[in-house]
Amino acid sequence: MRTVAEHLAAVLDTVQVLSPLELGLMDAHGCVLVEDLAAPAPLPGFDNSAMDGYAVRVADLSELPAVLPVTGDVAAGPASALRVQAGLCVRIMTGAMLPAGADAVVPLEWTDGGTAQVRIDRRPEPGGSIRRAGEDVAAGEVVLTAGTHLGAAQIGLAAAVGRSRLRVRPRPRVVVLSTGSELVEPGERLAPGRIADSNSFALTAAAREAGALAFRVGMVPDDPRRLSEAIEDQLVRADVLVTSGGVSVGAYDVVKEVLSQLGTMSFDKVAMQPGMPQGFGTVGPELTPVFGLPGNPVSALVSFEAFVRPALRKMLGAVPLERPRVTARAVEPFTSPPGKRSFLRVLLEVYDGAYVVTPVSGSGSHLLAGMARANALAIVPEDVERVEAGGAVEVLVLERRAR
Ligand code: AMP
Ligand code: MG
Repeated sequence: MRTVAEHLAAVLDTVQVLSPLELGLMDAHGCVLVEDLAAPAPLPGFDNSAMDGYAVRVADLSELPAVLPVTGDVAAGPASALRVQAGLCVRIMTGAMLPAGADAVVPLEWTDGGTAQVRIDRRPEPGGSIRRAGEDVAAGEVVLTAGTHLGAAQIGLAAAVGRSRLRVRPRPRVVVLSTGSELVEPGERLAPGRIADSNSFALTAAAREAGALAFRVGMVPDDPRRLSEAIEDQLVRADVLVTSGGVSVGAYDVVKEVLSQLGTMSFDKVAMQPGMPQGFGTVGPELTPVFGLPGNPVSALVSFEAFVRPALRKMLGAVPLERPRVTARAVEPFTSPPGKRSFLRVLLEVYDGAYVVTPVSGSGSHLLAGMARANALAIVPEDVERVEAGGAVEVLVLERRAR
Protein backbone atom coordinates (compact mmCIF):
# COMPACT_ATOMS: atom_id res chain seq x y z
CA MET A 1 0.00 0.00 0.00
CA ARG A 2 1.11 3.53 -0.79
CA THR A 3 0.79 6.44 1.58
CA VAL A 4 -1.26 9.48 0.62
CA ALA A 5 1.94 11.51 0.46
CA GLU A 6 3.59 8.99 -1.88
CA HIS A 7 0.60 8.89 -4.20
CA LEU A 8 0.33 12.69 -4.26
CA ALA A 9 4.04 13.00 -4.99
CA ALA A 10 3.69 10.58 -7.93
CA VAL A 11 0.74 12.57 -9.27
CA LEU A 12 2.51 15.93 -8.93
CA ASP A 13 5.64 14.49 -10.56
CA THR A 14 3.59 13.52 -13.59
CA VAL A 15 1.39 16.55 -14.24
CA GLN A 16 2.99 19.54 -15.90
CA VAL A 17 2.29 23.23 -15.73
CA LEU A 18 0.31 24.15 -18.85
CA SER A 19 2.02 26.22 -21.55
CA PRO A 20 1.13 29.91 -21.57
CA LEU A 21 -1.56 31.24 -23.83
CA GLU A 22 -2.76 34.72 -24.71
CA LEU A 23 -6.37 35.10 -23.58
CA GLY A 24 -8.96 37.87 -23.61
CA LEU A 25 -9.40 39.53 -20.23
CA MET A 26 -12.53 37.69 -19.18
CA ASP A 27 -11.04 34.32 -20.10
CA ALA A 28 -7.88 35.28 -18.22
CA HIS A 29 -9.88 35.96 -15.05
CA GLY A 30 -8.86 33.44 -12.39
CA CYS A 31 -5.68 32.47 -14.25
CA VAL A 32 -2.06 33.15 -13.35
CA LEU A 33 -0.22 35.85 -15.29
CA VAL A 34 3.07 34.79 -16.91
CA GLU A 35 4.34 38.20 -18.00
CA ASP A 36 5.17 41.43 -16.22
CA LEU A 37 2.58 43.97 -17.26
CA ALA A 38 3.88 47.53 -17.73
CA ALA A 39 1.65 50.55 -18.23
CA PRO A 40 2.42 52.23 -21.57
CA ALA A 41 0.99 55.54 -20.31
CA PRO A 42 0.38 57.11 -16.92
CA LEU A 43 -2.80 56.66 -14.92
CA PRO A 44 -4.67 58.98 -14.71
CA GLY A 45 -3.69 59.93 -18.23
CA PHE A 46 -4.35 63.66 -17.63
CA ASP A 47 -5.12 66.04 -14.76
CA ASN A 48 -8.85 65.77 -14.06
CA SER A 49 -11.48 66.65 -11.52
CA ALA A 50 -12.16 64.39 -8.53
CA MET A 51 -15.53 66.07 -7.88
CA ASP A 52 -18.48 67.69 -9.55
CA GLY A 53 -17.90 71.40 -8.95
CA TYR A 54 -16.10 74.44 -10.32
CA ALA A 55 -12.58 74.77 -11.70
CA VAL A 56 -11.09 77.96 -10.19
CA ARG A 57 -7.94 79.90 -9.47
CA VAL A 58 -7.48 79.80 -5.68
CA ALA A 59 -6.12 83.37 -5.78
CA ASP A 60 -9.61 84.54 -6.80
CA LEU A 61 -11.06 83.24 -3.51
CA SER A 62 -9.15 85.45 -1.06
CA GLU A 63 -12.46 86.83 0.25
CA LEU A 64 -15.39 84.52 1.08
CA PRO A 65 -18.08 84.17 0.04
CA ALA A 66 -16.84 84.91 -3.49
CA VAL A 67 -19.10 85.28 -6.52
CA LEU A 68 -17.53 84.27 -9.85
CA PRO A 69 -19.03 84.31 -13.37
CA VAL A 70 -19.22 80.79 -14.88
CA THR A 71 -17.85 80.84 -18.44
CA GLY A 72 -18.78 77.29 -19.49
CA ASP A 73 -19.04 73.58 -18.67
CA VAL A 74 -16.59 70.73 -19.01
CA ALA A 75 -17.94 67.20 -18.88
CA ALA A 76 -16.05 63.91 -18.73
CA GLY A 77 -15.18 62.86 -22.26
CA PRO A 78 -14.38 65.60 -24.73
CA ALA A 79 -11.18 67.58 -24.36
CA SER A 80 -12.13 71.17 -23.62
CA ALA A 81 -10.54 74.28 -25.11
CA LEU A 82 -11.87 76.30 -22.18
CA ARG A 83 -9.38 78.26 -20.10
CA VAL A 84 -10.02 79.62 -16.62
CA GLN A 85 -9.18 83.34 -16.77
CA ALA A 86 -8.52 85.42 -13.66
CA GLY A 87 -11.74 86.21 -11.81
CA LEU A 88 -13.77 83.58 -13.69
CA CYS A 89 -14.53 79.87 -13.29
CA VAL A 90 -15.73 76.84 -15.26
CA ARG A 91 -18.30 74.28 -14.11
CA ILE A 92 -16.68 70.83 -14.15
CA MET A 93 -17.82 67.21 -13.74
CA THR A 94 -15.98 64.29 -12.10
CA GLY A 95 -13.40 62.85 -14.49
CA ALA A 96 -13.44 65.86 -16.83
CA MET A 97 -10.10 67.25 -18.02
CA LEU A 98 -8.95 70.17 -15.89
CA PRO A 99 -9.10 73.34 -17.99
CA ALA A 100 -5.88 75.32 -18.39
CA GLY A 101 -5.44 78.08 -15.85
CA ALA A 102 -7.32 76.32 -13.02
CA ASP A 103 -5.39 75.27 -9.90
CA ALA A 104 -8.20 73.74 -7.83
CA VAL A 105 -11.75 72.42 -8.00
CA VAL A 106 -14.39 73.68 -5.57
CA PRO A 107 -16.85 70.86 -4.82
CA LEU A 108 -20.45 71.63 -5.74
CA GLU A 109 -21.41 71.20 -2.07
CA TRP A 110 -19.36 74.31 -1.11
CA THR A 111 -21.36 76.51 -3.52
CA ASP A 112 -24.88 77.58 -4.41
CA GLY A 113 -24.65 75.49 -7.62
CA GLY A 114 -25.17 78.49 -9.94
CA THR A 115 -24.75 78.14 -13.70
CA ALA A 116 -24.39 81.78 -14.87
CA GLN A 117 -22.50 82.78 -11.76
CA VAL A 118 -21.67 80.87 -8.61
CA ARG A 119 -21.35 81.77 -4.96
CA ILE A 120 -18.44 79.95 -3.31
CA ASP A 121 -18.43 79.62 0.49
CA ARG A 122 -15.19 77.70 1.11
CA ARG A 123 -11.69 77.96 -0.27
CA PRO A 124 -9.93 74.78 -1.47
CA GLU A 125 -6.20 74.22 -1.02
CA PRO A 126 -4.21 74.69 -4.22
CA GLY A 127 -4.56 71.38 -6.09
CA GLY A 128 -7.73 70.53 -4.13
CA SER A 129 -10.01 67.90 -5.75
CA ILE A 130 -7.62 67.51 -8.67
CA ARG A 131 -6.40 64.04 -9.66
CA ARG A 132 -2.94 64.46 -11.11
CA ALA A 133 -1.72 62.58 -14.19
CA GLY A 134 0.40 59.60 -13.16
CA GLU A 135 -0.47 59.65 -9.45
CA ASP A 136 -1.92 56.12 -9.67
CA VAL A 137 0.57 54.61 -12.12
CA ALA A 138 3.63 56.18 -13.78
CA ALA A 139 4.32 55.61 -17.48
CA GLY A 140 6.37 52.43 -17.86
CA GLU A 141 5.61 51.21 -14.33
CA VAL A 142 5.13 47.45 -13.87
CA VAL A 143 1.62 47.17 -12.45
CA LEU A 144 1.28 43.36 -12.36
CA THR A 145 4.12 40.88 -12.11
CA ALA A 146 4.40 37.38 -13.54
CA GLY A 147 2.87 34.89 -11.11
CA THR A 148 0.00 37.18 -10.10
CA HIS A 149 -3.34 35.47 -9.67
CA LEU A 150 -5.82 37.49 -11.73
CA GLY A 151 -8.83 38.43 -9.62
CA ALA A 152 -11.32 41.21 -10.22
CA ALA A 153 -9.06 44.15 -9.32
CA GLN A 154 -6.15 42.81 -11.40
CA ILE A 155 -8.39 42.30 -14.45
CA GLY A 156 -9.69 45.85 -13.98
CA LEU A 157 -6.16 47.24 -13.76
CA ALA A 158 -5.10 45.43 -16.94
CA ALA A 159 -8.05 46.99 -18.74
CA ALA A 160 -7.27 50.42 -17.24
CA VAL A 161 -3.76 50.35 -18.71
CA GLY A 162 -5.22 49.43 -22.08
CA ARG A 163 -4.62 45.69 -22.30
CA SER A 164 -7.37 43.55 -23.81
CA ARG A 165 -5.38 40.28 -23.80
CA LEU A 166 -2.97 38.78 -21.30
CA ARG A 167 -0.43 35.97 -21.36
CA VAL A 168 -1.50 33.49 -18.73
CA ARG A 169 -1.42 29.85 -17.75
CA PRO A 170 -4.72 28.60 -19.18
CA ARG A 171 -7.23 26.73 -17.10
CA PRO A 172 -6.85 22.96 -17.52
CA ARG A 173 -9.74 21.41 -19.46
CA VAL A 174 -11.06 18.64 -17.27
CA VAL A 175 -13.44 16.02 -18.62
CA VAL A 176 -15.44 14.10 -16.04
CA LEU A 177 -17.21 10.84 -16.69
CA SER A 178 -18.84 8.47 -14.28
CA THR A 179 -19.21 4.75 -14.77
CA GLY A 180 -21.84 2.37 -13.54
CA SER A 181 -24.76 0.52 -15.12
CA GLU A 182 -26.88 1.55 -12.13
CA LEU A 183 -26.66 5.27 -12.95
CA VAL A 184 -29.41 7.45 -14.41
CA GLU A 185 -29.61 11.20 -14.96
CA PRO A 186 -30.94 13.10 -11.93
CA GLY A 187 -34.70 13.45 -12.21
CA GLU A 188 -35.12 10.41 -14.44
CA ARG A 189 -37.38 7.64 -13.24
CA LEU A 190 -35.51 5.30 -10.89
CA ALA A 191 -36.18 1.68 -11.79
CA PRO A 192 -35.48 -0.66 -8.85
CA GLY A 193 -31.74 -0.84 -8.23
CA ARG A 194 -30.97 2.35 -10.08
CA ILE A 195 -29.50 5.53 -8.54
CA ALA A 196 -28.98 9.07 -9.78
CA ASP A 197 -25.47 9.87 -10.98
CA SER A 198 -24.11 12.35 -8.45
CA ASN A 199 -20.37 11.90 -8.88
CA SER A 200 -20.02 13.44 -12.31
CA PHE A 201 -21.80 16.57 -11.07
CA ALA A 202 -19.85 16.78 -7.82
CA LEU A 203 -16.49 16.20 -9.52
CA THR A 204 -17.19 18.67 -12.33
CA ALA A 205 -18.17 21.27 -9.75
CA ALA A 206 -15.05 20.46 -7.68
CA ALA A 207 -12.85 20.88 -10.76
CA ARG A 208 -14.43 24.27 -11.43
CA GLU A 209 -13.85 25.32 -7.83
CA ALA A 210 -10.21 24.33 -8.30
CA GLY A 211 -9.98 26.73 -11.26
CA ALA A 212 -10.38 24.29 -14.14
CA LEU A 213 -12.65 24.46 -17.18
CA ALA A 214 -14.61 21.34 -16.44
CA PHE A 215 -17.01 19.44 -18.65
CA ARG A 216 -19.38 16.77 -17.47
CA VAL A 217 -19.62 14.00 -20.02
CA GLY A 218 -22.03 11.98 -17.95
CA MET A 219 -22.41 8.27 -17.47
CA VAL A 220 -20.95 5.25 -19.16
CA PRO A 221 -22.35 1.79 -18.35
CA ASP A 222 -20.10 -0.99 -17.05
CA ASP A 223 -19.29 -2.16 -20.56
CA PRO A 224 -15.61 -2.24 -21.57
CA ARG A 225 -16.26 -1.37 -25.23
CA ARG A 226 -18.46 1.63 -24.38
CA LEU A 227 -15.93 2.84 -21.83
CA SER A 228 -12.98 2.54 -24.27
CA GLU A 229 -14.93 4.51 -26.87
CA ALA A 230 -15.86 7.21 -24.38
CA ILE A 231 -12.27 7.56 -23.20
CA GLU A 232 -10.94 7.75 -26.75
CA ASP A 233 -13.56 10.37 -27.70
CA GLN A 234 -12.84 12.54 -24.68
CA LEU A 235 -9.05 12.38 -24.59
CA VAL A 236 -8.73 14.75 -27.55
CA ARG A 237 -10.38 17.60 -25.73
CA ALA A 238 -9.02 17.02 -22.25
CA ASP A 239 -5.95 18.17 -20.37
CA VAL A 240 -7.12 15.86 -17.58
CA LEU A 241 -9.64 13.03 -17.54
CA VAL A 242 -11.42 12.08 -14.33
CA THR A 243 -13.53 8.95 -14.03
CA SER A 244 -15.44 7.63 -11.06
CA GLY A 245 -16.40 4.10 -10.17
CA GLY A 246 -15.22 0.71 -11.30
CA VAL A 247 -11.80 0.70 -9.68
CA SER A 248 -12.20 -1.88 -6.93
CA VAL A 249 -12.14 -5.64 -7.11
CA GLY A 250 -15.77 -6.32 -8.12
CA ALA A 251 -16.69 -8.40 -11.14
CA TYR A 252 -17.87 -5.41 -13.18
CA ASP A 253 -15.15 -2.95 -12.28
CA VAL A 254 -14.48 -2.13 -15.91
CA VAL A 255 -12.52 1.08 -15.42
CA LYS A 256 -9.68 -0.87 -13.92
CA GLU A 257 -10.01 -3.54 -16.61
CA VAL A 258 -9.96 -1.04 -19.50
CA LEU A 259 -7.63 1.66 -18.23
CA SER A 260 -4.99 -0.80 -16.95
CA GLN A 261 -4.30 -1.60 -20.59
CA LEU A 262 -3.66 2.03 -21.48
CA GLY A 263 -0.59 4.24 -21.19
CA THR A 264 1.08 4.24 -17.80
CA MET A 265 -2.14 3.68 -15.84
CA SER A 266 -1.76 1.84 -12.57
CA PHE A 267 -4.21 1.05 -9.85
CA ASP A 268 -2.92 1.30 -6.34
CA LYS A 269 -4.19 0.88 -2.86
CA VAL A 270 -3.60 4.10 -0.99
CA ALA A 271 -3.62 4.02 2.80
CA MET A 272 -6.51 6.40 3.33
CA GLN A 273 -10.10 6.45 4.42
CA PRO A 274 -12.27 7.02 2.53
CA GLY A 275 -10.85 6.41 -0.93
CA MET A 276 -8.48 3.45 -0.88
CA PRO A 277 -8.45 2.31 -4.54
CA GLN A 278 -6.88 4.95 -6.81
CA GLY A 279 -6.13 4.78 -10.51
CA PHE A 280 -3.66 7.20 -12.02
CA GLY A 281 -1.41 7.48 -15.05
CA THR A 282 -1.07 9.10 -18.45
CA VAL A 283 -2.88 7.96 -21.56
CA GLY A 284 -2.77 8.79 -25.26
CA PRO A 285 -0.38 10.66 -27.53
CA GLU A 286 -0.50 13.80 -25.37
CA LEU A 287 0.23 11.83 -22.21
CA THR A 288 -3.02 13.10 -20.72
CA PRO A 289 -3.23 12.54 -16.97
CA VAL A 290 -6.15 10.28 -16.05
CA PHE A 291 -7.56 9.84 -12.56
CA GLY A 292 -9.65 6.75 -11.90
CA LEU A 293 -11.40 7.69 -8.67
CA PRO A 294 -13.47 5.32 -6.55
CA GLY A 295 -17.24 5.36 -7.02
CA ASN A 296 -18.56 5.97 -3.55
CA PRO A 297 -19.55 9.64 -3.57
CA VAL A 298 -17.57 10.68 -0.50
CA SER A 299 -14.53 8.65 -1.59
CA ALA A 300 -14.68 10.34 -4.99
CA LEU A 301 -14.76 13.84 -3.50
CA VAL A 302 -12.13 13.18 -0.85
CA SER A 303 -9.85 11.61 -3.50
CA PHE A 304 -10.40 14.70 -5.60
CA GLU A 305 -9.36 16.91 -2.67
CA ALA A 306 -6.31 14.81 -1.90
CA PHE A 307 -4.94 14.31 -5.43
CA VAL A 308 -6.85 15.92 -8.29
CA ARG A 309 -7.18 19.40 -6.86
CA PRO A 310 -3.44 19.82 -6.13
CA ALA A 311 -2.70 18.49 -9.65
CA LEU A 312 -5.06 21.00 -11.26
CA ARG A 313 -3.55 23.82 -9.19
CA LYS A 314 -0.09 22.81 -10.38
CA MET A 315 -1.23 22.84 -14.02
CA LEU A 316 -2.69 26.32 -13.49
CA GLY A 317 0.62 27.53 -12.08
CA ALA A 318 -1.25 28.49 -8.92
CA VAL A 319 0.20 28.48 -5.43
CA PRO A 320 -0.42 27.12 -2.90
CA LEU A 321 -1.47 23.76 -4.32
CA GLU A 322 -3.31 22.79 -1.19
CA ARG A 323 -6.32 24.19 0.58
CA PRO A 324 -5.62 26.21 3.71
CA ARG A 325 -5.00 24.13 6.82
CA VAL A 326 -5.62 25.09 10.41
CA THR A 327 -5.20 23.32 13.73
CA ALA A 328 -8.44 22.88 15.65
CA ARG A 329 -9.59 21.34 18.90
CA ALA A 330 -11.79 18.25 18.64
CA VAL A 331 -15.12 18.67 20.43
CA GLU A 332 -15.71 14.92 20.37
CA PRO A 333 -13.22 12.06 20.06
CA PHE A 334 -12.20 10.92 16.57
CA THR A 335 -11.15 7.42 15.66
CA SER A 336 -9.17 6.31 12.64
CA PRO A 337 -8.06 2.87 11.38
CA PRO A 338 -4.41 2.04 12.11
CA GLY A 339 -1.97 2.75 9.29
CA LYS A 340 -4.43 4.90 7.32
CA ARG A 341 -4.86 8.61 6.95
CA SER A 342 -8.47 9.51 7.70
CA PHE A 343 -10.30 12.45 6.19
CA LEU A 344 -13.28 13.11 8.45
CA ARG A 345 -16.22 15.29 7.55
CA VAL A 346 -16.40 18.03 10.16
CA LEU A 347 -17.92 21.37 10.94
CA LEU A 348 -15.18 23.90 11.66
CA GLU A 349 -16.18 26.79 13.88
CA VAL A 350 -14.53 29.47 15.97
CA TYR A 351 -15.29 29.20 19.67
CA ASP A 352 -13.73 31.57 22.21
CA GLY A 353 -11.30 32.77 19.55
CA ALA A 354 -10.05 29.28 18.70
CA TYR A 355 -10.94 26.75 16.01
CA VAL A 356 -13.03 23.78 17.08
CA VAL A 357 -14.30 20.86 14.98
CA THR A 358 -17.32 18.61 15.39
CA PRO A 359 -17.95 15.50 13.29
CA VAL A 360 -21.04 15.90 11.08
CA SER A 361 -21.30 12.42 9.69
CA GLY A 362 -20.48 8.78 10.17
CA SER A 363 -17.51 7.45 8.28
CA GLY A 364 -19.48 5.54 5.61
CA SER A 365 -18.26 6.66 2.20
CA HIS A 366 -21.80 6.65 0.80
CA LEU A 367 -22.95 9.31 3.31
CA LEU A 368 -23.06 12.28 0.96
CA ALA A 369 -25.44 14.41 3.03
CA GLY A 370 -22.82 14.61 5.79
CA MET A 371 -20.23 15.71 3.22
CA ALA A 372 -22.60 18.47 2.15
CA ARG A 373 -22.96 19.67 5.76
CA ALA A 374 -19.20 19.67 6.35
CA ASN A 375 -17.10 22.77 5.75
CA ALA A 376 -13.79 21.07 6.46
CA LEU A 377 -12.01 17.73 6.52
CA ALA A 378 -10.18 16.75 9.69
CA ILE A 379 -7.03 14.79 8.90
CA VAL A 380 -6.03 12.05 11.31
CA PRO A 381 -2.54 10.84 10.41
CA GLU A 382 -1.55 7.23 9.74
CA ASP A 383 0.03 6.68 13.17
CA VAL A 384 -2.91 8.05 15.19
CA GLU A 385 -5.88 5.83 15.99
CA ARG A 386 -7.73 8.13 18.33
CA VAL A 387 -7.94 11.84 19.02
CA GLU A 388 -9.49 12.54 22.41
CA ALA A 389 -12.04 15.28 22.99
CA GLY A 390 -10.03 18.46 23.52
CA GLY A 391 -7.12 17.12 21.45
CA ALA A 392 -5.62 18.98 18.51
CA VAL A 393 -6.35 17.92 14.96
CA GLU A 394 -5.26 19.29 11.61
CA VAL A 395 -8.08 20.49 9.36
CA LEU A 396 -8.34 21.15 5.63
CA VAL A 397 -10.67 24.10 5.10
CA LEU A 398 -13.13 23.63 2.24
CA GLU A 399 -14.36 26.83 0.61
CA ARG A 400 -17.26 26.57 -1.76
CA ARG A 401 -16.47 29.61 -3.87
CA ALA A 402 -16.12 29.30 -7.62
CA ARG A 403 -12.76 30.50 -8.87
P1 AMP B 1 -17.88 1.31 -7.68
O1 AMP B 1 -16.61 2.01 -7.32
O2 AMP B 1 -18.21 1.44 -9.12
O3 AMP B 1 -17.90 -0.09 -7.20
O4 AMP B 1 -19.02 2.07 -6.89
C1 AMP B 1 -19.04 2.10 -5.49
C2 AMP B 1 -20.36 2.64 -4.99
O5 AMP B 1 -20.51 3.98 -5.44
C3 AMP B 1 -21.58 1.91 -5.52
O6 AMP B 1 -22.54 1.88 -4.48
C4 AMP B 1 -22.04 2.75 -6.68
O7 AMP B 1 -23.40 2.59 -6.94
C5 AMP B 1 -21.73 4.12 -6.18
N1 AMP B 1 -21.49 5.02 -7.32
C6 AMP B 1 -20.65 4.77 -8.33
N2 AMP B 1 -20.67 5.77 -9.22
C7 AMP B 1 -21.56 6.68 -8.76
C8 AMP B 1 -22.02 7.93 -9.25
N3 AMP B 1 -21.57 8.42 -10.39
N4 AMP B 1 -22.92 8.61 -8.53
C9 AMP B 1 -23.36 8.09 -7.36
N5 AMP B 1 -22.95 6.92 -6.84
C10 AMP B 1 -22.07 6.21 -7.53
MG1 MG C 1 -19.49 0.61 -10.38
